[in-house]
Amino acid sequence: MHHHIMPTYASMPVRFLKGEGAWLWDENGNKYLDALSGIAVCGLGHAHPEVASAISDQAHTLMHTSNLYYIDKQEKLADKLCELTGMNDVFFANSGAEANEAAIKIARRFAHSKNIQNPIIVTMDKSFHGRTLATLTATGNLAIKEGFSPLPEGFYHAPYNDINALDTLSKQLPNIVAVLVEPIQGESGVNIPSADYLNKLSDLCEKNDWLLMLDEVQTGVGRTGSFLASQQNGIQADVVTMAKALGNGVPIGACLTSKKATGLLTAGSHGSTFGGNPLACAAALKVIEIVERDQLASRATQLGTQMAEAFKLNLKHCEHVVEIRQKGLMIGIELSTPCLDLVNKALEKKLLINVAAGNTVRLLPPLTISDDEAAQITTLVSDLIIAH
Ligand SMILES: *Cc1c(COP(=O)(O)O)cnc(C)c1O
Repeated sequence: MHHHIMPTYASMPVRFLKGEGAWLWDENGNKYLDALSGIAVCGLGHAHPEVASAISDQAHTLMHTSNLYYIDKQEKLADKLCELTGMNDVFFANSGAEANEAAIKIARRFAHSKNIQNPIIVTMDKSFHGRTLATLTATGNLAIKEGFSPLPEGFYHAPYNDINALDTLSKQLPNIVAVLVEPIQGESGVNIPSADYLNKLSDLCEKNDWLLMLDEVQTGVGRTGSFLASQQNGIQADVVTMAKALGNGVPIGACLTSKKATGLLTAGSHGSTFGGNPLACAAALKVIEIVERDQLASRATQLGTQMAEAFKLNLKHCEHVVEIRQKGLMIGIELSTPCLDLVNKALEKKLLINVAAGNTVRLLPPLTISDDEAAQITTLVSDLIIAH
């Protein structure tokens, strides 16, 4: 770790200087296949030429003016996001955590509009919502909260994928105003709920007059086979947060509202200096244009299914494989024992992967990879797991 960098990440001793598509080059000229995309950020691969041009053109034209003025690219991006998601309006931030902060503030405003003074937002066990004080409190993982008390009040955790538990809770805690949930839990190992979980959750929220707030920071922008993962359930949330893949590496977050969450944040009630600036919005507009034009959501479904089938075949005799979970190009392979060492073993083989929850190999390759690159990933990862 560099002596002037705070050691908040247990970073690996490799420095990438260049990228192209699914490939990265380190300072010694070694070439690596990237099956992680900077944790679901570079969905279009590295140094995408059209995104690079859009950023460069915008940088040569206008980078920042402030939200004190109308911003043309921001308006266009908001229109596009609302067109694609059926949501009403958008607040732009610079990260996933900030998008969720906006969602949390909206839930608090919603509560106060109903005269609930000490509202509760329910989040799920093993969830991940970010590292700011409010979002780490929302996160259902004790390790992430360690040493940061006092934490903000008003959060309660419930078991994921368990509607009955939530229904019971609704009778015990009259102050619940919102549920914040990931359509698929990414950080805790690609946990995919039952196919109708979000539908039932949506019904329960409707019944109790709660906001349904979906954290699509990792699942959004086509990765799971539709622009938003929740669109496969045909539901309309009250709040949706996005970030990671939206700028393909340019920091941008978005908090979208519809229905009863609309109009709660008013002039002066929230803000962000950089949020929605022309540079970030130009990048995101280009990203979305390419995702739509190249039908990358369908491609994610096709490739992801193909890769999961290859894994099922390759690993069918592996007794230490507990489960292979996949939706689009979110893939988790849970092993019966800890397997963090596979990250380094993959790096030696010039492949970037991730291990989530200590025992689940997580793959989030760019949506733009070729069949051949996908096959290289499945072969290399299968070999590593078989040898584990
Ligand atoms: C990554 C992530 C976040 C946090 O995003 P940052 O940009 O790191 O703040 C929040 N929610 C989910 C589901 C994520 O995967």
